Amino acid sequence: MPHDVVVYAIPMRNRFRGITVREGVLWEGPAGWVEFSPFLDYDPQQCVPWLRAAQDAAEHPFPEPVRDAIPVNCTVPAVDAERAAAIVLGSGGCKTAKVKVAEPGQSLADDLDRVAAVRAALGPEGRIRIDANGGWDVDTAAAAIGAINKAAGGLEYAEQPCPTVDDLAAVRRRVSVPIAADESIRRAEDPLLVQRKDAADIAVIKVQPLGGVRATLRLAEQLTLPLVVSSALETSVGLAMSIAVAAALPKLPYAAGLNTGTLLTRDACSSRLIARDGAIAVPARRPVPDLLDDIRADDETRERWIARIADVQEVMG
Ligand SMILES: [Mg+2]
Repeated sequence: MPHDVVVYAIPMRNRFRGITVREGVLWEGPAGWVEFSPFLDYDPQQCVPWLRAAQDAAEHPFPEPVRDAIPVNCTVPAVDAERAAAIVLGSGGCKTAKVKVAEPGQSLADDLDRVAAVRAALGPEGRIRIDANGGWDVDTAAAAIGAINKAAGGLEYAEQPCPTVDDLAAVRRRVSVPIAADESIRRAEDPLLVQRKDAADIAVIKVQPLGGVRATLRLAEQLTLPLVVSSALETSVGLAMSIAVAAALPKLPYAAGLNTGTLLTRDACSSRLIARDGAIAVPARRPVPDLLDDIRADDETRERWIARIADVQEVMG
């Protein structure tokens, strides 16, 4: 770990995943700049694959891309209908929208209003996927997915409706909408369990929690499910790691969840990895952060992250 790490703190445009300020660490390795940005509620053990991902990308070049642009979805947080429509219309031409649902403190009516507004803004050809982040039980999920599918005029898929793999399998048997697994892949001790239990139609893969670009591509080889590459809410430095995976996969049947740079009010790089005409161009080389003074965290935050990295390294041994 180099001594001259940059700790960043960037306000979010909307509250997302309960977060209003995104924090993380950037540093430059022999192969280029990397990002380490596990969420603040993760303990040191959970942060191990995130640190491995950064260390791996610091040492190893990205694989050769097989495509030069990655179609992406826009992300609609659990906002009201008016704001949801505005996000879709301002998304840089994304033809697919991922809508957060099952937000604690909100009702199914809120989800239905939001999804209907997204459909109106997206038009009949657009695709809508929802993400419940494991917020429902099986019965609630089966009822809610049916109702939201109607309000949306058809859903592409429903992501992580329930927390456990067995519950995903149960919901999948009760609804016609395809089921995607996210937390059940990236937070699982066995990321292949979903596939063995026929618990999902689609696997969401995220590079930092799965241990890096090369580890994620190795896992992708073992998954026969279609894959959706998604980000963990990163600056363009971290996004470049995910784009490298999306660019190298032999097949990319779904829009990637990589337009999350737009959820941040600032970025580390002036050449941001965000969508134009619904796709992110694969950069010719890794982004170099040139806006570090705009995003640098205060001393207290910096000390906290340096201590956090030491804790993760201690767990890694
Ligand atoms: Mg998700």
